[in-house]
Amino acid sequence: MRIQPLIYVLLWLLIMAACTPSPSNYNANNHQGKNNPMDVKKGDTGVLFESFFPGSIEISIGAIGDLLIHNRVYEDAATEDGYDFTPMFEPVTSYLQGPTITIANQETVIGGEDIGLSSYPRFNSPYALADAIQQSGVDLVTMANNHILDRGETAIQNAIRYYEKIGMEYTGSFKSREDRNQIRVIETDEGISVAFLSYTYGTNGIPTPAGKDYLVNRMDWEQIKQDVQKAEKLADVTVLSYHFGSEYERFASSEQKQLAQYAANMGVEVVIGHHPHVLQPLEWLEGKDGNQTLVAYSLGNFLSGQNTLYRRIGGMLQFSIEKDLQDQHVKVHSPAFLPTFVDYQIKNGRMTGFKVLPLHKVSESQLSHVNKHQNEIKEHLSRRLSELQFLDKE
Ligand SMILES: [Zn+2]
Repeated sequence: MRIQPLIYVLLWLLIMAACTPSPSNYNANNHQGKNNPMDVKKGDTGVLFESFFPGSIEISIGAIGDLLIHNRVYEDAATEDGYDFTPMFEPVTSYLQGPTITIANQETVIGGEDIGLSSYPRFNSPYALADAIQQSGVDLVTMANNHILDRGETAIQNAIRYYEKIGMEYTGSFKSREDRNQIRVIETDEGISVAFLSYTYGTNGIPTPAGKDYLVNRMDWEQIKQDVQKAEKLADVTVLSYHFGSEYERFASSEQKQLAQYAANMGVEVVIGHHPHVLQPLEWLEGKDGNQTLVAYSLGNFLSGQNTLYRRIGGMLQFSIEKDLQDQHVKVHSPAFLPTFVDYQIKNGRMTGFKVLPLHKVSESQLSHVNKHQNEIKEHLSRRLSELQFLDKE
């Protein structure tokens, strides 16, 4: 086929327009410094036509579990003039920076040093943690956790002020009613928008300050429904985070399954869970309209000072979102998982040298029977999701 010059110019203008980044309705700089390959899927109508008119566009999302910063972790991050957590994430930084958007569950509130750092049972973490996870590739944190009210409203407002200062997206806990009413939607440069919601089962018995329900999203089924309906209108895809389940249980409870099914029935595309501090098997749930929802009931701990085997194994879930440019249909596919391991040494009775390592790069001296554990974890995660791929091929 020979293309006339005028048609060629028109086609060129069209593709330039299609490649112009769409404006973000929340934060235009949300993935600066990240790899954002525009993955254009080709049709079957000829090479030139395909490159001008891609059939679909695609992005990927990464999600990690709990960042539960005990005193032994932040003391290990101490420097002469503050804290530096970046070395702890360094071995997994390339994985966190890979997806178009990466989210994390910030279990401990980052209220900063001014109000005094603290550990279990009422946590408060240093601001440098927010810097480190952002530099490592995290774009958004979920804040609706059972520890969110540990240090009161002051710690929450401090954390949000700091997130705003550095340009970190957050959801699940808000500074005001107006802030809460704004559903978090990240508009990617590729042209797919993703809404993020986050809820917790409770706050360890600490009541929400009177009249300030916006400080934490609780498991209010009616509220969740209203938020999902809003999110579905605003974005192509909704990723809903639940802080739920029983601590240290390796399988989802009936309550977790009910809440995940509730989300599936409303058309939520992805459910991300945390709180059990250990990994639980993933699965697809079918919603009432025959839609498919990817569910990770618990992503375990990503970084914590907990010291039993399964509480040291966490990971990053990754999946792709593909949008058909003809009918605007959006599909979640290719779930994959990177199992990770929190390594540390004991020196003079203290835990030091905390690092998050890809499990497949852990040596026998760091974890005895590592191959056996790796295989068991892979089998555990994929027992209800046989298509699950693992990011351990190097
Ligand atoms: Zn929790």
